[in-house]
Amino acid sequence: MKTLAKSKAEPGIWMEDHPKPEVGYNDVLIKIRKTAICGTDMHIYHWDEWSQKTIPVGMHVGHEFVGEIVDMGEGVRGFDIGQRVSGEGHITCGHCRNCRAGRRHLCNFTVGVGVNRDGAFAEYLVIPAVNAFPIPDDISDELASIFDPFGNAVHTALSFDLVGEDVLITGAGPIGIMAVAICKHVGARNVVITDVNEYRLDLALKMGASRAVNVANTELTDVMAELGMVEGFDVGLEMSGNGRAFEQMLENMNHGGKVALLGIPASDTVIDWNQVIFKGLVIKGIYGREMFETWYKMTSMLQSGLDISPVITHRFPVDDFEKGFEIMGSGQSGKVILDWS
Ligand code: NAD
Ligand code: ZN
Repeated sequence: MKTLAKSKAEPGIWMEDHPKPEVGYNDVLIKIRKTAICGTDMHIYHWDEWSQKTIPVGMHVGHEFVGEIVDMGEGVRGFDIGQRVSGEGHITCGHCRNCRAGRRHLCNFTVGVGVNRDGAFAEYLVIPAVNAFPIPDDISDELASIFDPFGNAVHTALSFDLVGEDVLITGAGPIGIMAVAICKHVGARNVVITDVNEYRLDLALKMGASRAVNVANTELTDVMAELGMVEGFDVGLEMSGNGRAFEQMLENMNHGGKVALLGIPASDTVIDWNQVIFKGLVIKGIYGREMFETWYKMTSMLQSGLDISPVITHRFPVDDFEKGFEIMGSGQSGKVILDWS
């Protein structure tokens, strides 16, 4: 079968013919229809320090996908051949305290599809059936293929009550701009997003942002004054991984504000802890998606009118994958879809 594999310990990803994977007792075999490129795939492509320590050479990359079940192990119940599914890329142990308590996103022994084991950039993918998530007929293949990052946005945004609140999102990457649409959908008042990339700030406006602020040339405090916000933001969603953006968020939070951190900052990032303590801020780290509450919320919000479709800006047949990686790396895109059909 056709795969996109990390077959050499150097920058790049290679299209190769590999054997079709075997389906285990509790697994489903998924014929891939569409995949999307994630920031993680870009790290693997560029073979950065993290990838060199983490990625097994030879692995099929990718974890954002939709496809259809074509085979399943004898132990699988509750799925049908031909069923359309996306899937949770975090495979959890099932035995640790958190897994047993139903808090699987907090599993201590998570294994990543397309990170620690073969991923979705292939004609076929095997995952445990419990990780597959059925996609209702009224949700398109394209949207289903980005459920993984959409889930990051949903998990982060729904961490705190948003109804009537003023929300600051730092970072208008694909996840940040999806979070804009989610916050508006569930009833936030002002949703202000920051970035330094005009293309992405424009996309954020298409997703319904009250204001999209280029912090390279505009003062966030001026925008807050225009909106009549004297006390600061009630909820902050950090989605840039940029230390300065996080600091700016802390400076502009209301007392008692709540902050969810999805972006992954450099380990030497320094913040002013006085902002946290004297404002009585609540800070929550976010990893992945809640299994599977986040997945149900994604589905039901799309079915109740949430529109995230502007986040998908580019589509390529998989044979043109290099073009996809190039545009994704340029910063002049939202989500980029590769078609395997
Ligand atoms: P992305 O890199 O595409 O987007 C980040 C955006 O932040 C970019 O558009 C960039 O221009 C912007 N930015 C840079 N400096 C800024 C500043 N000073 N102020 C405001 N914005 C600034 O990333 P993404 O794919 O949308 O993901 C968002 C973040 O979440 C990344 O840091 C990613 O690594 C992280 N992530 C975390 C998890 C998790 O489970 N915790 C999962 C997926 C992604
Ligand atoms: Zn576990």
